[in-house]
Amino acid sequence: AMHTLPTVVIATGNPHKVEEIRAIFSAVGTPSRLLGLNEAGGGPFPEPEESGRTFAANATIKAIAYARATGHLCLADDSGLEIDALDGRPGVISSHYCTDGRETGMNREERDHTNNQRVLRELAGVPAERRAARFVCIMVLAGPQGLIAETRGTFEGRIGVPGEVPRGRNGFGYDPLFLVAPQFTATGAELSPAEKNRLSHRAQACRLMAPHLAAIHTDL
Ligand code: IMP
Repeated sequence: AMHTLPTVVIATGNPHKVEEIRAIFSAVGTPSRLLGLNEAGGGPFPEPEESGRTFAANATIKAIAYARATGHLCLADDSGLEIDALDGRPGVISSHYCTDGRETGMNREERDHTNNQRVLRELAGVPAERRAARFVCIMVLAGPQGLIAETRGTFEGRIGVPGEVPRGRNGFGYDPLFLVAPQFTATGAELSPAEKNRLSHRAQACRLMAPHLAAIHTDL
């Protein structure tokens, strides 16, 4: 039997996500060597267009594109925020909500800030009890030959009212607006990285992925 750990590339350009996914898997104890895209060698790799209409479609596009480009197993996540009062928006366009999903020259921080302002503006006048929201994460494992496994995680909460949020300095994206259920006292950005990595949509999707990675290890 072979005893080298399979190399798995985390297929995201978002450094926050690479960090979170690494930390989550190190807590679970997955027998894989996890590399960021920039550590995979042979890059930089062209970014595939996330043209899908669902998180699953986009995660699959990314996982397969980067598995082919790197020649390694790839884990890709697609995630976003669904707000019930906004019929599930921002959804798949969460990262570029402020521009209706269009790419712009804005950097990540500017975009996050402008996205958050848009969400608060669209929820103006909506009372706390109708501000329910969740983060959703679809995680896809693919090899150069194609799809291997797909898992899903959710993280329930609600969008705070102005004055109450934004709050907290950790995390990224919509975390400063997101009051974590069932207490609704702390925002995602006020959780410690360890707490967020126990509770989050990404944590749940990664935990469900761990047995699939372990199965690949066994097959070697
Ligand atoms: P993706 O990088 O295309 O999957 O887009 C994910 C987007 O959803 C991010 O840019 C954030 O706006 C939002 N998002 C996903 N996960 C989180 C999270 O854990 N906290 C805050 N925002 C998140």
